[in-house]
Amino acid sequence: MKVALITGITGQDGSYLAELLLEKGYEVHGIKRRSSLFNTNRIDHLYQDPHDPDQRLKLHYGDLTDAMNLTRIIQECQPDEIYNLGAMSHVAVSFDTPEYVGNVDGLGTLRILEAVRILGLEKKTRIYQASTSELYGGMPENKNEKGFYDESSPFYPRSPYGVAKIYGFWITKNYREAYDMFACNGILFNHESPRRGETFVTRKITRAVAKIALGLQEKVFLGNLEAKRDWGHAKDYVRMMWMILQADKPEDWVIATGVTTTVRDFVSLAFEEVGIKVEFKDEGVDEKAYVVSCDHKDFQIEIGKEVLSVDPSYFRPTEVDLLIGDPSKAKNKLGWVPEHDLASLVKDMMKGDVSLMKKDVVLLKAGHEILKQAE
Ligand code: NDP
Ligand code: GDP
Repeated sequence: MKVALITGITGQDGSYLAELLLEKGYEVHGIKRRSSLFNTNRIDHLYQDPHDPDQRLKLHYGDLTDAMNLTRIIQECQPDEIYNLGAMSHVAVSFDTPEYVGNVDGLGTLRILEAVRILGLEKKTRIYQASTSELYGGMPENKNEKGFYDESSPFYPRSPYGVAKIYGFWITKNYREAYDMFACNGILFNHESPRRGETFVTRKITRAVAKIALGLQEKVFLGNLEAKRDWGHAKDYVRMMWMILQADKPEDWVIATGVTTTVRDFVSLAFEEVGIKVEFKDEGVDEKAYVVSCDHKDFQIEIGKEVLSVDPSYFRPTEVDLLIGDPSKAKNKLGWVPEHDLASLVKDMMKGDVSLMKKDVVLLKAGHEILKQAE
């Protein structure tokens, strides 16, 4: 039985990857952080009783800032594959916690690589590093001649997150070259799902649209509506993580859809899923969205209602304006075929959030209070 270790198993990608590896018959070890509240809700459906002799999902307390802890866990589980997905993954928050992000997202990667080396597992353990399209920083002059970012495009990170991840990228490549380790970077463009963190823009939008359609929220405040992202589905992307570690040789790979969309258009698509058409008026900080029509039997909303405003507090000190990736290498060399496009991604996310918010409607009707959460 193959053994895999996943850092960040409680996150969006970690949860889908754990599902995939368990389906493939792996023994899966995951690192979770101690938290004052339960933080395993994305993987609770995979939980197995530790007393079960066939238990194949095992969780360890740990942290990417703790080298001794990581070394001990790797020594204990002797993994064939390590997927380093753990990170402080939010670009906007990285401007508030730049040192911490450097420690976790940058040095954390080094700690994993060095632990494998110190333990003499260089020839046994294959390592996947969660690199990111944020490395490109959206610099227009760095796209290839076809207008995409690919494996040979130069990097120019535009946030403490991007700068920390660029260390992770290069130290992974360096350990591959210096110690002949099977260590690979997946340069993944944005990928989303119903399990996406609630403060990333897509999930913030699908949650808000579901609430607005159900009468639980008046409007949503967003930042830069002009930003363009290449959004794929996390389920397709974790499959590719696994394929990267099954390849004949260790390399770096771009994973993307090759289609880019504005935040504004994502908002329109999300509203369309609940039968609501919106139009945007005015520009910049004055831009707003209003309901034009509603033709869904389950949702009633006033025509002309203002459902979105721009709030400049969500603008970033430096922005990545546009990301679009070229996944040709992954498709041609590894045969990666994504099952989702943007339309099916939005549909999946809206389905998830409408169903989640309908629970709130039931609770409200039963006299419970629905508390607001910071977004
Ligand atoms: P999430 O934010 O959903 O998950 C991050 C995971 O890392 C969580 O399990 C979190 O634990 C864990 N974590 C955070 N800090 C630490 C720490 N100090 N020590 C150990 N674990 C920690 O991210 P995603 O699943 O979306 O992304 C997975 C990886 O891929 C990340 O490295 C991200 O930066 C990268 N990436 C993501 C992209 C995307 O679009 N989703 C695009 C490109 C790269 P907890 O649950 O306790 O917070
Ligand atoms: P990122 O690409 O990793 O930064 O993913 P996000 O989902 O956090 O942001 C994607 C884009 O949406 C960025 O260009 C943000 O500036 C933009 N954006 C606009 N409004 C918001 C918002 O309210 N929250 C977030 N997170 N992003 C927003």
